[in-house]
Amino acid sequence: MINPYEVALRQLNDAAEILDLELFFRKKLQHMERSLAVSIPIRMDDGSVEIFEGYRIQHSTVRGPGKGGIRYDENVNMDELKALAMWMTWKTALLKLPLGGAKGGICVNPKKLSQGELERLTRRFTVEILNVIGPDIDIPAPDVNTNSQTMAWMMDTYSMQKGRTIPGVVTGKPVEIGGSLGRDRATGMGLFYIIQKLVEKLNLNFNSMSIIVQGFGKVGTVIAEELEEVGCKVIGVSDSTIGLYREAGLNTQELIAFKKNGGSFVNYDNDSVQKIDNREILTKRCDILIPAAKENEITKENADQIDCKIILEGANGPTTPNADEILNAKNIIVVPDILANSGGVLVSYFEYIQDINAYFWDMDRINEELQKVLLKAFEEVYHLSQDKSISLRTAAYLIAVSETSKAIQLRGLYP
Ligand code: GLU
Repeated sequence: MINPYEVALRQLNDAAEILDLELFFRKKLQHMERSLAVSIPIRMDDGSVEIFEGYRIQHSTVRGPGKGGIRYDENVNMDELKALAMWMTWKTALLKLPLGGAKGGICVNPKKLSQGELERLTRRFTVEILNVIGPDIDIPAPDVNTNSQTMAWMMDTYSMQKGRTIPGVVTGKPVEIGGSLGRDRATGMGLFYIIQKLVEKLNLNFNSMSIIVQGFGKVGTVIAEELEEVGCKVIGVSDSTIGLYREAGLNTQELIAFKKNGGSFVNYDNDSVQKIDNREILTKRCDILIPAAKENEITKENADQIDCKIILEGANGPTTPNADEILNAKNIIVVPDILANSGGVLVSYFEYIQDINAYFWDMDRINEELQKVLLKAFEEVYHLSQDKSISLRTAAYLIAVSETSKAIQLRGLYP
């Protein structure tokens, strides 16, 4: 088993080495500022009581309040969340947002819980982490298996405890209660704006480019839809059960509808579509491969068999550093997670400032600001990678790590 925290540390240390970073900054950034583990007792529908493990981890708040999602997943553990929190620090620093990096989660399979159980779990978890979150402390958001309803329960629980409505405590809320337009599609749209820019830089053309998307959820469906719209052909998709492959192209809209109705690909019936293992789908030949599931999917075990031009990382941490070396040697361009999928946290930031100002933007403004901030970060990363002949990931890390280190230096060590 690859430990994501070790992966995150290796990425940080590699960047620190190139930057010749002072030991104090390295040490500071290797550690989490705060890690909270809580147990969450809830009454199940059958009257019994179950206890779940929950966590909220803040990697860095040196540039502003912590920011990052809450995931509900059976494999959630401290080391996974430490890595994810660190990656959030880099994402917000890369976009120059006045925010830090955090992450949280509950070790649970939400599919096994009823809606009522999920609500009680979310509310009790919110109370358990109440003292370490808040609009100027740490602002959670949705992540794997959580959504706008989860955020609505968190915001309500927090507000009830404080005796007043505080929408800015979480982002990714429904628009009716202080959510932002465009937040639900933001991560996928961000991926799209970035790949569009990259394709332009490389003098390529979307027309009839083949696409494979691993993970067909909140992020994967949006990018598949957007790329199809500009002429790409989606030839492979997968969910947590299985992969679907058709060289001549899949019916993306039908598959999106199938997933929206709660279907699993293992039950998808269509004679012209081949069912394959959801890891094997990664090694099928295509132009753009989009891992949009979870971490450690592209490793040194399968990197050699990856057969695409570009990898666009929709998930956090899908590629390990060992795999990166192999992909670089094969001249596969990897658009790193901390840049590629940062549209989500960017619109979260817009939501947060809209909440604080109690003034809401229309969709045009959201799209305009999203593209402006994201593409500025992309240009910075792209130019650095060209100037220094380094990968986009290394360039993104150099910018994010030095941005954060500068903040540590300016603030100094207390006391
Ligand atoms: N969970 C998302 C991510 O990994 C969004 C975090 C946020 O909006 O704060 O970037």
